[in-house]
Amino acid sequence: MPKSLPKSKRAKDDVLAELRQLRSEDARWKEGRTFSLVYYVDDEHSRLLKEAYGEYMAENGLSPVAFPSLRRMEAEVVSMVAGLFHGDDDVAGTMTTGGTESIMMAVKTAREWARGEKGIARPEIIAPSSVHPAFEKAAHYFDVELRHAATAPDLRVDVRDVERLITPNTAMIVGSAPPYPHGVVDPITELAALAQSRGLLCHVDACLGGLFLPFAKKLGRDIPPFDFSVPGVTSMSADLHKYGYSAKGASVVLHRNRALRRHQFYTYSAWPGGLYASPSMTGTRPGGAIAAAWAVMHYLGEDGYLEHARRILATTDKLIAGINAIPGLRVLGAPEVGVFAFSSDSINVYELADAMEVRGWKLDRQQKPPALHCMITPAHERIADVLLADLRDCASRLAAGEPAPEGSAAMYGMVGAIPDQKQVDGFLLEFLDGVFDRG
Ligand SMILES: *Cc1c(COP(=O)(O)O)cnc(C)c1O
Repeated sequence: MPKSLPKSKRAKDDVLAELRQLRSEDARWKEGRTFSLVYYVDDEHSRLLKEAYGEYMAENGLSPVAFPSLRRMEAEVVSMVAGLFHGDDDVAGTMTTGGTESIMMAVKTAREWARGEKGIARPEIIAPSSVHPAFEKAAHYFDVELRHAATAPDLRVDVRDVERLITPNTAMIVGSAPPYPHGVVDPITELAALAQSRGLLCHVDACLGGLFLPFAKKLGRDIPPFDFSVPGVTSMSADLHKYGYSAKGASVVLHRNRALRRHQFYTYSAWPGGLYASPSMTGTRPGGAIAAAWAVMHYLGEDGYLEHARRILATTDKLIAGINAIPGLRVLGAPEVGVFAFSSDSINVYELADAMEVRGWKLDRQQKPPALHCMITPAHERIADVLLADLRDCASRLAAGEPAPEGSAAMYGMVGAIPDQKQVDGFLLEFLDGVFDRG
């Protein structure tokens, strides 16, 4: 039976109290015991975001005519990100509501460009197997074919495999800086050079690392070139709601020039409701997300981003060294940002995750190979030592043959053993049904 709308009105404080109560079983991200989804700095930072978001909560970025304030803030945000990425005055972009939307816009751009300028009816895109699923989603939505290139043993995409996959229908080559699973930046210079030599577009997905890598480089880290300074890079995506520390719903997509950005836009001029022009996927665009992004970039400035990057890198270095020192565990590849995964040849890492979960840690499970994922934020500075101690203890108990607590290891083991991808997708559809049916 569908639930009916409450009949009568209710006091505001009462409603808000219940709303806050609802989160009692949520992931406790403030304490640094989870490693994805939330990029938390501190309460003062959160207050700035809330106030900035609240100021423009009602405004709608769909109409730049009605809200020149948002238009100006968006232009400044896009320009600051382009500047971080060594873009020149030709580089142009827009804000979107997130990495997925930015990626969709890059894929749409590639499709329109291939159709319009190369006469390719069914364009193809080549992306590493480690690329974010948003590219699969975009390819699916826009009827583009995505071809997967293998990664080399160092976890970066194998450029020779990319080259092998090029056909007369190829429109774009994708690299990530870095990909989400292992945090190891793809060889962007080589990918872009290959794209350029074949007359193809090249997108760099910097959703995760875009607002981190420039600061890590300034701090002296050895960061390979990944942005518009690389000849052949034609578009980029970068999330502000990740290491940009902004409120949810903020990302940027950039193009090498305005002619390319044209392919992103959508217009419809025959509607009885008026002339319609929209830059991206969504219609209504949340003013709050634009305002919060603008505010946080001015609030932190370069010094603030550098400070957070320094803290995250120090915590990450400590964790990577600590994990590699635990018998049986090893971090995969040589990650460049505060994102990495670790695996084991001697114990079952899914059982390790279950044992850690009993102690209040939520580590994300990965596959191909089985691994556990960490995404470090300033909130993890305080917990690094406790995390390492718990990991060491849990790993040694499992290695000694102590049984793992009941958890999701059995499920992950089972799913990993199913050779048929379609069957696993079937389980995932059932999972979604359950989530959206029962709440
Ligand atoms: C998070 C992420 C995305 C997708 O961003 P959303 O904001 O979750 O839509 C794309 N690429 C990479 C590398 C990411 O980490």
